[in-house]
Parts: sequence; structure tokens; C-alpha cells
Amino acid sequence: MQTVDPLSARQWFTWKEPITWASSIVVFMFLFFVLTLVFGGLPAFIIAFIAAFCLHFFYLDKRAIGIECPHCGKYIETNTPWICGYKQCRNENVDDFPFIYRCEHCGAEPKAYKCHHCDSLIFFTKDQLRINYAQCVNLPVKSEPVKKDQTAEKIGKQDEEKRDLLHELDVTKIKGNIKEAKAKIEPPPKKKTAFEELEEYYKGMMGNEDAAKKWHAAIDAEFPNDPVEREKRHGVVEQWMINKL
Ligand SMILES: [Zn+2]
Ligand SMILES: [Zn+2]
Repeated sequence: MQTVDPLSARQWFTWKEPITWASSIVVFMFLFFVLTLVFGGLPAFIIAFIAAFCLHFFYLDKRAIGIECPHCGKYIETNTPWICGYKQCRNENVDDFPFIYRCEHCGAEPKAYKCHHCDSLIFFTKDQLRINYAQCVNLPVKSEPVKKDQTAEKIGKQDEEKRDLLHELDVTKIKGNIKEAKAKIEPPPKKKTAFEELEEYYKGMMGNEDAAKKWHAAIDAEFPNDPVEREKRHGVVEQWMINKL
């Protein structure tokens, strides 16, 4: 791999294609010349052509320009897929558009690349612009969705439900026992006399009457000039009294 200075990387990329072609042609001509002496014109041409063709398209053209990080000293291939710092375009056609050249989508030329080894900026120009730098595509880590064990979940739910029901049953039983025990201890309620029953009834009815009177008075006081509203509200109180009978 060819390692170049980051400051001259862009020029190297610009010159890469002509240099590649020139090299291939030189190799073809040299081979053709040498092979002509052995095989004659046509076979020499064919062999030299195939050799130069393979050299060009399968090796020289595919060869990536490399740079060395001035901070950590590690080697970086410039055909690493990258994200453009201007519009966050994703560049994957990196043989034709490496980060030392320009963005395939918006055409911006990165002034720096964030080293994917040490995160420091590697500048391609002397102005050392620290913003809008290119950086390596961080492939999102595909997190495996946590598969819920539905059977275990169902069993858990059923267990919980069962525990709740058993608890409720226990509480009901205990309450029942308490009630029974109390009933045994407490003497049965004394039967009321006719006098006491009437007294209770009378007090209840009079209490209702008193409450109704107070409400009637309050309604009159609140709506002295609104006979319609008064009538409506008195009607409600009277209905309540009827329900109490
Ligand atoms: Zn580095
Ligand atoms: Zn871009």
C-alpha cells in the first residue's frame, strides 16, 4: 500500500489515475518489446496486453492510498467508508470518492479526517479547520431484541394471580372467624320496645322535616327575586321528603 503525507494526499489522489495509466502503459510496452524478441509480434502483443490489463484493473486501480496518523502513527486506508462533515452524507463509493477527495453527494472537500484509531484530527490542508471534518462510518451495533419468554411470563402472571387470590381467601376467612368470635362474646342485641321504636321513627321523621325546613329557608334567602329557580329547588327538597316516607 502506498502511504503518503496527509497534506499531499489530495494531490496524490488526483494524480493516482494518470499515474496508474502511465504505469500500465509502460509495463505493456516493456513486456511487448521483450516478448517480441521471443514470441514474435502478435503473441507478444496479446500476452503483454493481458498482463498490463490485469495489472491495471486488478491491482493498481484497486490500490488505496494510505495515510499515517500524525498523532498515533497508525495506518489509515483512505478508502474507509466515511461520513461527510458538511451535510452528514454517507460515502460508500470510496474507490472513487475517498475522504481525501470529496463527498460524492454534496461535493464538499473534507479539510480533515477524525482518526478512527485515536479520534484526533488529521488535517489535509494547512489551515487546520477543526469543524466539518470527515469521519469513519460507525456501523450501528445491531442490538438483538430481547426475546421475552412468553411461557415463563404467563406462568409468572398466573402465580401472582394465584397468590393474590389465596391471600384474599385467607383474609376473608380471618374476618369471618373474627365476626364469629365477636358474636359469641357479645350478648345479642336487646329487642326494642314499641316505645323505643316509635321514638326512633319520630326522631328520624322530625329530623327530615327540620332539614327540609332549613333548606327551604336557605333557598328563599338565596333566590329572593327568582321565583322560577326557587320553585325548582323547593321541588327538589319536596321530592327528597317524599322519598323518605
Ligand atoms: Zn490516530
Ligand atoms: Zn456531503
